[in-house]
Amino acid sequence: MKGKETKIILTEKEMPTSWYNVLADLPKPLPPILHPATKEPTILPPPLFPSGIRDQEFSTERYIEIPEEVLDIYKLWRPTPLIRAYRLEKALDTPAKIFYKYEGVSPAGSHKLNTAVAQAYYAKKDGIKRFTTETGAGQWGSALSLGCAFFGLECKVYMVKVSYYQKPYRRILMETWGAQCVPSPSPDTEIGRKILAEDPNSPGSLGIAISEAIEDAFKRDDTYYSIGSVINSVLLHQTIIGQEAKKQMEKAGYYPDIIVGCIGGGSNFAGMFLPFVKDKLNGKKPNLRIINVEPTACPSVTKGLYTWDYGDVAGLAPIIKMYTLGHTFMPPGIHAGGLRYHGMAPIICHLHRLGYVEAKAVPQVATFQAGVQFARAEGIVPAPEPNHAIRVAIDEALACRESGESKTILIALSGHGHFDLAAYDEYLTGKLQDYVYPEEKVKEALAHLPKVDYVEA
Ligand SMILES: *Cc1c(COP(=O)(O)O)cnc(C)c1O
Repeated sequence: MKGKETKIILTEKEMPTSWYNVLADLPKPLPPILHPATKEPTILPPPLFPSGIRDQEFSTERYIEIPEEVLDIYKLWRPTPLIRAYRLEKALDTPAKIFYKYEGVSPAGSHKLNTAVAQAYYAKKDGIKRFTTETGAGQWGSALSLGCAFFGLECKVYMVKVSYYQKPYRRILMETWGAQCVPSPSPDTEIGRKILAEDPNSPGSLGIAISEAIEDAFKRDDTYYSIGSVINSVLLHQTIIGQEAKKQMEKAGYYPDIIVGCIGGGSNFAGMFLPFVKDKLNGKKPNLRIINVEPTACPSVTKGLYTWDYGDVAGLAPIIKMYTLGHTFMPPGIHAGGLRYHGMAPIICHLHRLGYVEAKAVPQVATFQAGVQFARAEGIVPAPEPNHAIRVAIDEALACRESGESKTILIALSGHGHFDLAAYDEYLTGKLQDYVYPEEKVKEALAHLPKVDYVEA
């Protein structure tokens, strides 16, 4: 039964046709989201989100069918490969069996296109013409640009000004796919003009960019706002990854002992582990370990408080119950830009509280060391974000070498690092540094949590 293949592939016919919704299987329901002003339970605001997405957000249907049009686009790069890391195993001299599921084969270079395509589909279905969003390093902006191109929608991306000038390639990618990308703060919105008037040289921040994107979408009837992680529906769209991986692991003749992934807002890793955590929730695989890895510079789950906080820096988004470092927390400028969110997906936080998943934090330099070791063995140069997962996977494999156990380790490899080579250059020339946990800044940010009276039943 156990095959010897390096690459375990699925045919298009074997591709899952539904997303898996974990809300159907939770032993205790997820807390609601609260309106930022009234602080009472609410839904995703109708003027900003497609109806299809709003329906999915709190649905308790176990399997939600993937629309035909979305599946057809997924087939441009899906099913993605599952690869047995024979060469890394050998380099580590470990009895562990290491597998990785590679999302870097998507045209946008990461898992983010899985939800971008779905969101563009539902917007188009509502008769909407245009999407706005924010982007930091540009991964999400580029994925949404392509998602919109597939459905003939306009896309406007507010890109944090420092990144806009530091990382021109992502902007060019967005423009190639037909999107408009502006440095934020921009003169195109009220909030942007206000900030520019006070400080024409403002470097911008994700919080400002979100505020601009939301203001823009609020002001126009033909425009929705799109978010690339954190919310339930986005995690749902990513479960195509884990469902494919499960079939592929079965084909290979193994079931993982450990699944490891990086978490920024939590979407790529939840997409991987949710179809597997189902086996833990129903008692079939009680010993499966699911390890969420975050940077020590932005350790929401390992150091944050589990409490109510705004989803965004500006306090415009709903208030959610999650592990948070405080919505005003500005993390140090680590290269894993996708892991700099102050909070975490409520689904991951809830599963962590209930004891079904664990979390670890790792420092930056050690993650690049792992990424380079991975690249030299397997060829793929990973994005700085999944280097966090690879670090922990390598540590687990090295522990197996000591103990002689031959555990099966599955890594969520969320994207490639071809646009992050400057970060690799810093590592290779010895300039990359670690940031200690910014305890004082977190304390300060946690002083600004919203006051919430709502109590769960
Ligand atoms: C954005 C991004 C992440 C972090 O976001 P999640 O929602 O936690 O997945 C991780 N890896 C890559 C390659 C990304 O682009």
